[in-house]
Order: sequence, then structure tokens, then C-alpha cells
Amino acid sequence: MADCIFCKIAAGGIPSTSVHEDDVCLVFMDIGPLSPGHTLVVPKKHYEMIWDMPEAEAAHLGRLIPRLAAAVKGAVGAEGINLLQNNGRTSGQEVMHVHFHLIPRHAGDGLGYRWPAKPADPAVLAAEAEAIRKRLKA
Ligand code: AMP
Ligand code: ZN
Repeated sequence: MADCIFCKIAAGGIPSTSVHEDDVCLVFMDIGPLSPGHTLVVPKKHYEMIWDMPEAEAAHLGRLIPRLAAAVKGAVGAEGINLLQNNGRTSGQEVMHVHFHLIPRHAGDGLGYRWPAKPADPAVLAAEAEAIRKRLKA
């Protein structure tokens, strides 16, 4: 994608602070970190949304993430990590090329997040689960 910033990084057109590169993905430091060690995991091929990704490439990223999360956590002495992956503008996605954020967390870091949970109606949950099951591909 000509005007995609992560495609440009993958093609070597603009620099990044690289952590890891293989045939399928890149790992580099977020240029606007939420906390020290904020790292991005990015497929080399351009997919806008997680549901656009072939399973094998998604699995490749998934296999890497636990080891990477441990390395990020250890490198910055974090107590926790938020793994965040936004899809669509309403979710907060700004770069329209799939990426996973690894965001190190420390007690009292003030980052927080909004989680305005409400009690659910079991009948509504059952209907939602049924609708999802119908669409779930084998
Ligand atoms: P999102 O809102 O999930 O699309 O997140 C996009 C992330 O990409 C933000 O955290 C940006 O700071 C980060 N970002 C944008 N451009 C670059 C870049 N050239 N190198 C590294 N990270 C970037
Ligand atoms: Zn791209």
C-alpha cells in the first residue's frame, strides 16, 4: 500500500527502531509510546483489520507474542503488559495496517483505561453467542 506508514517501514523506505524481523513480521518500538518499552508487532503484508489476515500469518504473530511480551516486560522491569489490537476508527485504530501493541504497565503509571461494564441479561448473552456461533467459520 503506497501511502501506508507500516508498509513503508516493511519496505525499508522509512526507518524504525527494530526489535525483530522475520519473513512474516516486524517488531519495532512505537514512536509515540504510552509507556517505556511500548512495542508494535506488525505483519509485513498489508492487512487493514485482524479479520483480513490469513490464519497462518496470524498464528505466526500469536506464536511470537508470549516470548516477546516476556522480553519487553523484563527489559523495562514492568509488572504487567496490555496487549492491544485496534480494528477500525471507532476502536481507536489510526494506522490502517494490522498491529498489536505491547504496552508495559507499572503500578501507579496513571494510564488506566475505560471499562464501563454493566450487568448482562442472560437471554441477550445467549442470543449474541448464537449469532456469533452461526458466523464462526470452521
Ligand atoms: P493505533 O491507534 O492502534 O492505530 O496505533 C498506531 C500506533 O502507531 C501509535 O501508537 C503510533 O504512535 C504508532 N506509530 C505511528 N507511526 C509510527 C512510526 N513511523 N514508527 C513507529 N510507530 C508509529
Ligand atoms: Zn500497510
